[in-house]
Amino acid sequence: MSIAEKVREHLAALPANVLLVAATKTRTTDEIAEALDAGIRACGENYVQEAEEKIPILGSRAEWHCIGHLQSNKIRKAVPLFDWIETIDSFAAAAEVEKRCAEIGKSMDILLEINIAEEAQKHGLMPVDAGRVADEILKAGFPHVRLRGYMTMGPFLDDPEGLRTYFRRARILFEEKRGGKFDQLSMGMSDSWRIGIEEGATIVRIGTGLFGARG
Ligand SMILES: *Cc1c(COP(=O)(O)O)cnc(C)c1O
Repeated sequence: MSIAEKVREHLAALPANVLLVAATKTRTTDEIAEALDAGIRACGENYVQEAEEKIPILGSRAEWHCIGHLQSNKIRKAVPLFDWIETIDSFAAAAEVEKRCAEIGKSMDILLEINIAEEAQKHGLMPVDAGRVADEILKAGFPHVRLRGYMTMGPFLDDPEGLRTYFRRARILFEEKRGGKFDQLSMGMSDSWRIGIEEGATIVRIGTGLFGARG
């Protein structure tokens, strides 16, 4: 199946309220353009350097989401490139995004990344800290940063069905809604997006399922 066919198949299967973010790390601008032609409206990049190369070429044809871990010293470069940052993991990171957005007069939608299975090697906030950090960011009233909800990866499991329990935990945290401010929950990838949606995802991030296995 071509990229275009796989994109159309996924778009047709998604509920209308769920955003498909094409995970485009390592994909060429030609591959991404084919996905955009087939109806993709949002792309997710993991690395600032790769985003710097591709986003100026593909530009406003898509909304760009940062879905990779963002070191604090990369935020200044990331802010002009992206429309969303899904991987904020501290109050300090959100404050830095606000500062850089203010400098260039830009608004940013952000999500807090949760390390939902509390894995030592993974980035993101521990579930027990998520609500407190969210409230700190919301209380700061940043004029250029809009905190919309949570993102989570979940652990790598042979059977994606095992992710359901973790996605459900993320959903429960999300449903606390932080005073009605939360409306986005990003969870589910190529092998788990159906489970993500069943458990309440509003954003799914799919790479392999659209572009094939990475070479
Ligand atoms: C690569 C990536 C995805 C997509 O993974 P696939 O298994 O290829 O669909 C989703 N989210 C993040 C954060 C990624 O890095």
